[in-house]
Amino acid sequence: MVQGIANWNTGQTQEWLQKYVDDWVAFYRKHTNDGEVASYIPVLQQADPNDLGISIIGRNGMSIRSGDTEIPFTLQSISKVLSFIVACMERGISYMLDRVDVEPSGEAFNSIMHLEMRQVEKPFNPLINAGAITVASILPGKTSDKRLEPMFQLLEKILGYRPDLNVDVYESERDSSMRNRAIGYYLLEVGFLESDLNITLETYFKQCSIEVTIDDLARIGMVLANDGMDTKTGEEIIPRQVARITKVLMLTCGMYDASGKFATYVGIPAKSGVSGGIVAAVPPRVRDEIMPFTDGCGIGVYGPALGDKGNSIAGIRLLRHIANQWDLSIF
Ligand code: GLN
Repeated sequence: MVQGIANWNTGQTQEWLQKYVDDWVAFYRKHTNDGEVASYIPVLQQADPNDLGISIIGRNGMSIRSGDTEIPFTLQSISKVLSFIVACMERGISYMLDRVDVEPSGEAFNSIMHLEMRQVEKPFNPLINAGAITVASILPGKTSDKRLEPMFQLLEKILGYRPDLNVDVYESERDSSMRNRAIGYYLLEVGFLESDLNITLETYFKQCSIEVTIDDLARIGMVLANDGMDTKTGEEIIPRQVARITKVLMLTCGMYDASGKFATYVGIPAKSGVSGGIVAAVPPRVRDEIMPFTDGCGIGVYGPALGDKGNSIAGIRLLRHIANQWDLSIF
């Protein structure tokens, strides 16, 4: 592997950076053997555990892509970022924050125990299952398709096309969703849900099954990095305040009970999903030295082999390496 260079001053051409990233992806691909693909949603087991890819899109349009860049995968928990954004846009920030908290839970993404043990007044945050299912119950609309329409419209604006729903993944999760149903019934019992449980769960399973690529994630990350603005057109796609709160949530809760470590060692607002995707939003930073992407970038990663907290194992290590090399941390 090319060893780290402390000084990136010399000729930051795209081709030059590309060589490094290719090298790092090849190195971290070996780390995929340390993880396993998710199996509790049966169809997700079909993913190739050795896949690893990254897409980085800079504000100035510079794009670096490496590894398995073309493989479509489902958003899974990354959709929780989008549903929270859309719910804030539809219902207002204070309405949402009255109903879903902004505290890390310190528990697994699908934990039920902590809700009962800690007698919470609202789910800990919108990026764990209990919070995301609550958000899905708040989205306006009598059917799951109506509730998801604003999310598809937002995605269409960011990506330039309307992504598809992966029906196999949707049905696979729907038919194996005992734990999420248990969470849903608990939320219903304590009065956190704002609407019908079945439609709410259908909405949640469908949002998790929206299919994307790492380029799509990089574009989403880029818009968030720029506080909700489309860098090409200057259009505000996500209200600034909503984008800001979303990035705080990503930093504090985006990697579930590994969020503190990710914030410490990588230092970038990011969100993972059990299909192996990670979206990361690197805002512009002031640096004394010339470094790549100081004016911000969006990053999409795919690596379906997961570590014990349900995050892409090689993806996180690759991100950590790049963040250290290029000083991408926001701190
Ligand atoms: N659909 C998945 C679930 O609810 C999403 C979880 C995840 O990506 N961590 O279990």
